[in-house]
Amino acid sequence: MKNTYNFMCKQCEINHRASIMLNDDLWATISVKEEGLCLLCIEQRLNRRITMKDLSPAPINQTARIILERLEKLNPKTEETIDPFNTLVEK
Ligand SMILES: [Zn+2]
Repeated sequence: MKNTYNFMCKQCEINHRASIMLNDDLWATISVKEEGLCLLCIEQRLNRRITMKDLSPAPINQTARIILERLEKLNPKTEETIDPFNTLVEK
């Protein structure tokens, strides 16, 4: 049985292993509800890095929240766009 989660980003059309959910208000500013975007494409549309306060309380964000919290404590002012989950998989 395949026990992995993959989804195709609607913008870059690459399969990713993980995704995040933004707060509804923020998501509505960059996308339509049915559209799925990867972390990097979300940040591209926002034109900035995602922060903890951007994430919805959905369980899917649990890992992202832990990682972002630690990254923000380590370097709260960095402008570098990163993929903390290394979500990119082969096309
Ligand atoms: Zn993408």
